[in-house]
Amino acid sequence: MKTVLLSFALIFITGTLIFGQSFRMQRPVKNNIQVNGSYLYGEPHISNPGNAHKGADILVKWDTVYAYGNATVHTVAYNPNDTVGGYEPNGGGNYIVLRSTWEGRQIYVYYMHLKLPLVTSGSAVTAGQPVAISGNTGFSTGAHLHFEIREGSPSSGTSRSRRNPELWFAMPGMGAIYGKVPGASSSTRVDIYPDPKPRPPYTTYGYSLTYNFNDPGIGIDPVYNENYAIGDVKPGTYTISALNGAYRRTVTVAAGQVVNADASTDAEDDILLKTADYLMAGNYPNPFNPETTIEFRLAEAANVRIDVYSSEGTHISTLVNGFINAGKHKAVFNGNGLASGTYFYRISAGDKVISGKMLLLK
Ligand SMILES: [Zn+2]
Repeated sequence: MKTVLLSFALIFITGTLIFGQSFRMQRPVKNNIQVNGSYLYGEPHISNPGNAHKGADILVKWDTVYAYGNATVHTVAYNPNDTVGGYEPNGGGNYIVLRSTWEGRQIYVYYMHLKLPLVTSGSAVTAGQPVAISGNTGFSTGAHLHFEIREGSPSSGTSRSRRNPELWFAMPGMGAIYGKVPGASSSTRVDIYPDPKPRPPYTTYGYSLTYNFNDPGIGIDPVYNENYAIGDVKPGTYTISALNGAYRRTVTVAAGQVVNADASTDAEDDILLKTADYLMAGNYPNPFNPETTIEFRLAEAANVRIDVYSSEGTHISTLVNGFINAGKHKAVFNGNGLASGTYFYRISAGDKVISGKMLLLK
């Protein structure tokens, strides 16, 4: 078994930030009010799976909502119930529609379930101006704002016109992630680790779903070409996975940025990181044959030792044993001459220890 130790600068990790884009709208609610992550954009309706959720629900209860930008009031109207046919939008209750352009594209933004609109049709509004008091009118089971973006046409029947609002604005200091899981069917679960949400999970899920393309109302963003998105994400580095790990990305998000998880195609960022304080590690590929690379990051210089064991606990080899500087490092494990099966690596750095499972498949 041979051992190779490589090392390079930590600055590489921050290089992924250049892929980030900015949010496009001001938030339509006060800064501390979060999007309800329990009913996602594109998620099938619980009793009518062909009908997907076409906006973001924001947990603003009988409170002021604001213009997302400079706009014209296109509609102020009332739709009482979830009636089939004849109403637009079905069950929106008191609703308003603001119209504006974004980079030359016409957008129509629906604020639904309002207690009280504060604007009149045809008037101009400026960014941040109060436009309504939120409420629970129409087909709604609790006070909230249903915020829906339609591109190109205000009509509910226009195919693929909706956009995911979670990629258009965020809470202060938060970012967002999007990506495309190739070959995913509707509502494929996309996991993100660690939990990215800024507040306790009563309003949020720690995962996302690919959009429900069975509903022709659900659209994707022509700039992002995504099929999933995760909004209101705390700055940090996350692992995203779907399809039992066939799709796996590591992505770093900064405040105010909308980041493409798929832009980081470098294999060494494509690993599951396990975190124990200042020591992080993971290996790729996994399963492997015959070589796998164990990557680890140190926040501080330390005496580092990396050992590999069989599943029975037999010591196989020592890959690293010495003083190593802070930063990102790699050690290669070669399984030539070993049987297929599970092996474990154990990294100790100062008083921190981390371990991981590696599968040798011949
Ligand atoms: Zn809604």
